Amino acid sequence: MIRAIYPATFDPITMGHVDIATRAAGLFDELIVGVYDRPLKNLLFSPEERYQMTRDVLAGIPNVRVERYAGLTVEFARQQNATVIVRGLRAVSDFEWELQLALTNRNLNPDVDTVCLMASQKYLFLSSSVVKEVAFAGGDVSDMVPEIVLKPLLEKIRALGGDGGGKVRTISVRD
Ligand code: ADP
Repeated sequence: MIRAIYPATFDPITMGHVDIATRAAGLFDELIVGVYDRPLKNLLFSPEERYQMTRDVLAGIPNVRVERYAGLTVEFARQQNATVIVRGLRAVSDFEWELQLALTNRNLNPDVDTVCLMASQKYLFLSSSVVKEVAFAGGDVSDMVPEIVLKPLLEKIRALGGDGGGKVRTISVRD
């Protein structure tokens, strides 16, 4: 039986994440999706919100379980009795970072290996950051995130003063 973890920040979960989780669930007996608390990064959603959205979005996949975690990813893997860390690889830019992460994690725990799945072509340029940028500027992100995420995302963006309804404002700068 091979149990894998798919750790990420999921701020918020996108169609790209869903694609990786779905494909990994088909490859491994059990997939535990780990929502990382990540205190160092400036995030839009709280850990609890990210956990709940991710759990709701992936609820239909029977061999997937969603957990929250803090601390080392290899420790989370050990705690869950998982031997594989799943990550997604998009453009070339992801490679260097994922290689660093994989090698570091392997040094920390040689019993856990990293498996990278290539991004699907239609999600190659999709990231949580892109989703937030587009939503903040009032663009349509309904193809980029699961339906469950759309409402809380737009509420959050509005609360922050974003989403100009897609209108462009020219901002003049005086010396
Ligand atoms: P982190 O901040 O931990 O990198 P992310 O949520 O940004 O968390 O991404 C987690 C993992 O999911 C990474 O391995 C990333 O490459 C992968 N990923 C994110 N978006 C996509 C996508 N559109 N297609 C494939 N993999 C993706």
